[in-house]
Amino acid sequence: MRTYRRLVIPLVLAALVGCGGVQGEPGGSGVRDDPYFPRLGNSGYDVTHYALDLGYDPATHELTGTAVITARARKDLSAFDLDLKGLTVRGATVDGQRAVVSRTGTELTLRPRDELPRGHTFRATVRYDGAPVTITDPDGSEEGWLRTADGALALGEPTGSMAWFPGNHHPSDKATYDITVTVPTDVQAVSNGELRSRKESADGRRTTYAWHVAQPMASYVATLAVGRFTVRESRTPDGLPVLTAVDPAEQRASAKVLDRLPEVLAWETRKFGPYPFSSTGAIIDRDGDAGYALETQNRPVFPGTPGLGTFVHELAHQWYGDSVTPRTWQDMWLNEGFATYGEWLWEEDHGGDTAQRIFDDRYALPSSDPLWAFPPARPPDAAHISALPVYDRGAMVLHKVRETIGDRAFWRLLRSWPADHRHGNADTAEFTSYVERENPGEKEALAGVWKDWLHGSGKPGSA
Ligand SMILES: [Zn+2]
Repeated sequence: MRTYRRLVIPLVLAALVGCGGVQGEPGGSGVRDDPYFPRLGNSGYDVTHYALDLGYDPATHELTGTAVITARARKDLSAFDLDLKGLTVRGATVDGQRAVVSRTGTELTLRPRDELPRGHTFRATVRYDGAPVTITDPDGSEEGWLRTADGALALGEPTGSMAWFPGNHHPSDKATYDITVTVPTDVQAVSNGELRSRKESADGRRTTYAWHVAQPMASYVATLAVGRFTVRESRTPDGLPVLTAVDPAEQRASAKVLDRLPEVLAWETRKFGPYPFSSTGAIIDRDGDAGYALETQNRPVFPGTPGLGTFVHELAHQWYGDSVTPRTWQDMWLNEGFATYGEWLWEEDHGGDTAQRIFDDRYALPSSDPLWAFPPARPPDAAHISALPVYDRGAMVLHKVRETIGDRAFWRLLRSWPADHRHGNADTAEFTSYVERENPGEKEALAGVWKDWLHGSGKPGSA
């Protein structure tokens, strides 16, 4: 799925620079065969760590950045790509040596002075600045860099993180992060992970926040919120650090739902197994443009005070999505099906409708309903990876699995799937073969579930 134009750039550069004896090839401008975003991410290397040093001033809307990317070459590389949208690249080095930089669309190509041999861990440094852009997704929603009344909010599903730092922006390449952000002292900078330090400049005009993400993170769940927040730090009864950042206008309305965070996490830990990260929390911002919640790692972002169902949903994603991450965007139902089913289970356990009842209500919808528009594992295009069938019919797949293997085996599955793929990636085929392997007696019945509910067109059982 590579385009001619994108491949030709590194080749032309190779000729210009004249690398005698170079055996390596340029890395690809996409990964594997993501059917929905063929140019997202890049092949040829694996990022292990991002160290981002950023500055942002809401008054001028100017972002300055230095990204230090530590990565391992997966083959002999003469050049490699990063994804970056907008912004101006001022220079780049690889292992301390100046690299040749070229850009085509969202592909930023770095050509190091020396070839990078397979297995070599290298460090690419990119200096950049400019006015970061908002990206409109194929489905019309907005992500990337969103301006707010008092600052900005960075959201990245599925491609938005390329609007604020160069990287391998595909969910399959996860890495740890240090995100250091300097902002005017009258606003704050809140990101993922744990706040390591907060330092004012000598003149008191700027403050630098250093956030550390200790567990692997896909770049689409990286976030940065700049603005005025009421920040509260506490711990759950289990000792897990909690940090919430709330727009002052939402402070009173959100107190009740935020107070339930330890209770929700304790319930999810019982259902889904040990919490996968070293801190938790939430960011409640009046973002203006996005209007949707996102399961940003450690602390989900909410566009105003969420209802309890949404709160449960985004926290469930910490297991299903953030820790076990889709291998390509085709596997989005593994995120949304599980998080939606998490909401149903919460209802079931807290005096609401049973999951069976919720399933039955959905199943009663006529075959013309958008719920049956396409099978959850096969969205028709990039504009539909966040559409209703991925969520609700995805949850229905899990309910059918539960019905097939029984409650006991299903509760075990809810815990073992995230435990066995912790901090990794998984795709739909890995999930179905995993369930079959764990429940060998039900292999045939499960095959029927996959055929009718996961991959089959139309409303199952209504032909
Ligand atoms: Zn979700």
